[in-house]
Amino acid sequence: MARLIIMGPPGSGKGTQAEHIARHFGIPAISTGELFRTHVRDKTELGAEASGYMDRGDFVPDHVTTAMLRVRLEEADAAAGFLLDGYPRTVIQIGALDEILADRQQTLEVVLELNASDDELLSRMLRRAQEQGRADDTEPVIQRRLELYRDQTQPVLKAYSNRGILLSVDGTGERQTITKAAIAALEDALAV
Ligand code: ADP
Repeated sequence: MARLIIMGPPGSGKGTQAEHIARHFGIPAISTGELFRTHVRDKTELGAEASGYMDRGDFVPDHVTTAMLRVRLEEADAAAGFLLDGYPRTVIQIGALDEILADRQQTLEVVLELNASDDELLSRMLRRAQEQGRADDTEPVIQRRLELYRDQTQPVLKAYSNRGILLSVDGTGERQTITKAAIAALEDALAV
């Protein structure tokens, strides 16, 4: 049973790493950003509500995000564990996740942080903008997302560090090398 979170600034590669790490542990990678993008693509009501915030690089309001996550975690594939990507992003969301898990008599095991320098992050995102054409990968929106990460999401890392469940891994270098280091660090932590 592994209930994990992956955290890292926009452009840190956490989405890609999440997929590989989750496959290794046989659990679903659940990305709130990806769930929102699917809603936008499918033109659902929730997608319409979220898209304005996403296009500006702002956070979607908590009641929308948390309700969406709660529903996703109730799906059968998440019963044996999960790797959350993109949630919690604020200290308020830590409490919301704690409540969701407490309702299920579950706790978090490990929070994995991917580190990278701001220069590296910006250049990766601008490259991704050309390759994938994500609407929120333009320079002003990227700057906004980095700023929110620093102001709102760094305190989340601090809180998990205080709980003693934060692991940090260097997110620069080859994709495979980072995946291996992350899996090794997680296996160590889960074995304790
Ligand atoms: P990145 O980490 O590159 O910023 P994500 O794919 O994780 O991208 O998220 C894309 C967008 O989805 C965010 O900028 C935000 O608008 C919205 N979003 C994702 N997760 C959350 C969350 N936990 N709370 C609020 N908004 C969120």
